[in-house]
Amino acid sequence: MITGRCLCGDVRYEIDGGISPIWLCHCSKCRRANGSAFHASAVCRAGKFRFTSGEDGIREYEDTPGYVTRFCGRCGSPVPQQLRGTEMVFLHAGALEGDLQRRVDHHIFTGSKAAWFDITDATPQFEEHKPREE
Ligand SMILES: [Zn+2]
Ligand SMILES: [Zn+2]
Repeated sequence: MITGRCLCGDVRYEIDGGISPIWLCHCSKCRRANGSAFHASAVCRAGKFRFTSGEDGIREYEDTPGYVTRFCGRCGSPVPQQLRGTEMVFLHAGALEGDLQRRVDHHIFTGSKAAWFDITDATPQFEEHKPREE
C-alpha cells in the first residue's frame, strides 16, 4: 500500500499495489505549476486508487484541454487526477510516502528544460514526449 497527501494533510489517498516507473517532465507548464526544475510523474491504475479524505476540497485549473492541474484548495499542493479517457491516475511522485519500489526511468521535454538545471543521471532523455513503443 502506497499513501500520499498534500502539504496541509486535508487531501489524502492510497494506492493498492504498484505504480509505474517515474519520469521527470521538464516542460514549461510543469515547471510553472510546480515552481521547480521538473515534475516527478507516475501513474497507477484507477481501480487501485482511492481518496481517503479531502476530495471535496480539490480545485481544478484547466490551462489547455490537454493540461489540467488539480490541487488542494487549502494549501495548493498538486493532487492526483484521473487522466481523461483512460483508466489511469496521474500521480505526483514527490507527494507519495513509503518505498515506491521505483526509480526515475527517463526525462521528457528536455528541449524546454530550465537552463540552470543540469541532468546528471544516465536515464534516457526525450526532447518532447517519449515516443510510443510499438
Ligand atoms: Zn492541502
Ligand atoms: Zn510537463
